[in-house]
Amino acid sequence: MSKENKKNVAIIGAGVGGLAVAIRLAKKGYKVQVFEAHETYGGKMGEICEKGYRFDGGPSLFTQAQLVDDLTLLVEKSDSSFSYDKLDVSCKYFWEDGSVFNAYFDRDRLSKELEDCFPEDCNAVLTYLDENGRQYESVGRIFLENSLHKIDTWLSWSVLKALTKFRFRDLLSTMHQKNRGAFKSEKLVQLFDRFATYNGSNPYQAPGMLTMIPHFEFNEGAYYPNGGMRSIPTHLYSLACALGVQFSFSEPVEEILVDKSKANGVKTFKGEYKADYVLSNADVYPTYAKLLKNHKVPSAVLKAERSSSGIIFYWGIKKIFKELELHNIFFSNNYQSEFDCLFKQKNLFDDPTVYVNISSKMDPKDAPKGCENWFVLVNAPNNEGQDWERLINRAREGVFAKIEACLGQDIRPLIEFEEILDPVKIESRTSSYQGSLYGTSSNSPMSAFLRHKNYSSDIQGLYFCGGSVHPGGGIPLCLNSAKIVSKLISE
Ligand code: FAD
Repeated sequence: MSKENKKNVAIIGAGVGGLAVAIRLAKKGYKVQVFEAHETYGGKMGEICEKGYRFDGGPSLFTQAQLVDDLTLLVEKSDSSFSYDKLDVSCKYFWEDGSVFNAYFDRDRLSKELEDCFPEDCNAVLTYLDENGRQYESVGRIFLENSLHKIDTWLSWSVLKALTKFRFRDLLSTMHQKNRGAFKSEKLVQLFDRFATYNGSNPYQAPGMLTMIPHFEFNEGAYYPNGGMRSIPTHLYSLACALGVQFSFSEPVEEILVDKSKANGVKTFKGEYKADYVLSNADVYPTYAKLLKNHKVPSAVLKAERSSSGIIFYWGIKKIFKELELHNIFFSNNYQSEFDCLFKQKNLFDDPTVYVNISSKMDPKDAPKGCENWFVLVNAPNNEGQDWERLINRAREGVFAKIEACLGQDIRPLIEFEEILDPVKIESRTSSYQGSLYGTSSNSPMSAFLRHKNYSSDIQGLYFCGGSVHPGGGIPLCLNSAKIVSKLISE
């Protein structure tokens, strides 16, 4: 595109997907303006800095780091630098019976740890991981990096080839059934079932196809971005600025302007902005329900089950726990009941699985000397009007009991700072419908194929990117959706 003939793109939202697509389109010569309701970029990837502690507000696990590197490489001149370290242990797992498992990246150490911890031949696990890696490379990658709603995608040679490799039985069995078939050890089944929560799903319902998820952590590796997770959107924002992207912060879009079924701009409290393309990085549900005046929310969007949400405690802890890693999981004694409670009863389970992330393990300046910054997450149902104050108190008690049962320590007296995030706040801060963390769940065999497309079929010039649309939630998939949508616009 010639510089004189620049087409305008208005992007709604500066979440990680909105930032990534702004970089890609600006690099292609589009004139890009991003409208963000809040005073800063990042969406769910915010941060809290209080009383000497720094916490990443949302995501804590970083995989597929090369997707950020790809964006860095698009920008020749930028002052921003971004670096990360590969983790030796991607996560440490605890059970109440005293079992502890370190998920080492190094295969030899992993094999030894598997044999020491579980009654399982380590080869069963290594074969499972290798096979999941092959499935991702031959099938998963194709479906996660292309629009599934364009005929060209289905006619391409790579997709036809991928279909021949696709294990259709992985759509018919659940993730849990598949893991039960792979391992003798109940604990290993639980450990690998947990990966369904990486997109807010239920392993007892989600298809076996999701067993590709552990591939990223175990085969490719988990990373810690230097400066914390917040450094990801900070870096992307700098790259976008270096390419001339304009940002309008604290300027929520009130309406997407549509004329004769063609999106031609956005309206904010400051006025109307004309654009050739409008791209919503906001959740697809409020995009339809609030920003498109004469359009109904499509029934597929209304019907889609939302992903789970979470109750998050940000705790300043006056002690160093040498036995903990950056990522730690303390398992429930009854995993199936926990998921029944979350997804069927839309309630909180009394014996929750607890996730504790401590970034001060990597970056000691994230907490005062002798202290740690605990980000504690308990899975919660999406918001359907539950009594959250009561549920938060139950979650807090559940966490105390679980940590005490696994570490033998009552942490109550150690908490010197607390802040809380719940599904209602997640929705009010990021417009994520019902406070879901990852858009829609993957609880049905076809859900991967039924997520909202990256464009509107009814309104020309309207596009979508981010966690609530194809290919789904989580940082890597949001970065993929940015890649897909920038290709759709430019081609
Ligand atoms: P979002 O982050 O959803 O941002 C959307 C932006 O749009 C917001 O800034 C919002 O203010 C703005 N917006 C909305 N409406 C308007 C409007 N009308 N006008 C202007 N702006 C508007 N993912 C991982 O990969 N690893 C993890 O460990 C992980 N853990 C998580 C933990 C928590 C507590 C949460 C909340 C999420 C977690 N996720 C994790 C999921 C991940 O954060 C999201 O999938 C991803 O950040 C979503 O990015 P997005 O591009 O969809 O935009």
